[in-house]
Amino acid sequence: MIIEVTNLVKKYKEHTAVDGLDLCIHEGEIFGLLGPNGAGKSTTMNALLGLLKMNGGTVKMFGKDYSKHAREIKRYVGYVPQEIAFFETLNAIDNVTYWGRLYRLRGDELDKAVQEALEFTGLWDRRKDRASTFSGGMKRRLNIACAIVHKPRILFMDEPTVGVDPQSRNSILESIKTMNQNGTTVIYTTHYMEEIEAICGRVAIMDFGKIIALGTIDELIDSISEENRINMGFVANTERAVTLIEKAQGVIACNNNEGMLRIRMEKDEMYLTALLENLIQNGFKIKSMTLEKSNLETVFLQLTGKKLRD
Ligand code: ADP
Repeated sequence: MIIEVTNLVKKYKEHTAVDGLDLCIHEGEIFGLLGPNGAGKSTTMNALLGLLKMNGGTVKMFGKDYSKHAREIKRYVGYVPQEIAFFETLNAIDNVTYWGRLYRLRGDELDKAVQEALEFTGLWDRRKDRASTFSGGMKRRLNIACAIVHKPRILFMDEPTVGVDPQSRNSILESIKTMNQNGTTVIYTTHYMEEIEAICGRVAIMDFGKIIALGTIDELIDSISEENRINMGFVANTERAVTLIEKAQGVIACNNNEGMLRIRMEKDEMYLTALLENLIQNGFKIKSMTLEKSNLETVFLQLTGKKLRD
């Protein structure tokens, strides 16, 4: 376990922003932290970065108690904040060098690390240009270069793709995957479901300062939906098909919607397999078939009552 959080509490006067949070993150995963605005994601991240004093709980990183080994732990942790965290008037190379120095890199080691961070984020060719001349996507990438110059083992990323064009977004997501393959554990927050689906293994959904669901995307989807919804079209004899389907095991309902049947079925692959066999044996010719799948958005809506982008 690379991060172990137990019973973390943060209060702002009367208001409890993080309410007894427990969380374990494995080494080598890309972990998605989702939640409506105000759920406590940033507060949790700030606590794990040692930027906030907490009211209770313990945090362990790399197996060490954060409160006792903060200085040492921080050397191996990186943070890409939501807001731009570099000097607009400096060029790219000076910005990344500044961050490298903060992490006590010096001399050749510093120069090499700066070059690698800029090459990695695709900014080496623009290294001598002022950050103020960069596009939104390039600024985001410079933010990342500053955060990774010291080669952190854990990287926190707080909505790192807000306001970037699709091409830059893809390049950022690809670089996160590469970093992860090279051994960095990533904790990622975003309001974009597609990003979570593209890069995250496990996902936690937070609300009211607690984790209310945790698992892989498939596990979360399975946990909320008890039925399969199938749309099926037939070459002919649709009404006869309805009669057969309604009698089949596991079928909750079958409605004929202008020739397209919408079937609600208990979630058990055996029922679907048996139904298909039955239809085929009885000579029905299936013209089209789709399985309506719940997605992360559905899970989020069901658990929090809110949309991801609200
Ligand atoms: P999220 O990142 O999920 O949007 P936050 O961690 O920013 O949520 O906030 C959690 C709760 O704590 C919110 O209700 C927010 O208003 C409150 N909060 C955050 N920072 C402060 C602060 N500095 N002072 C008072 N309340 C705060």
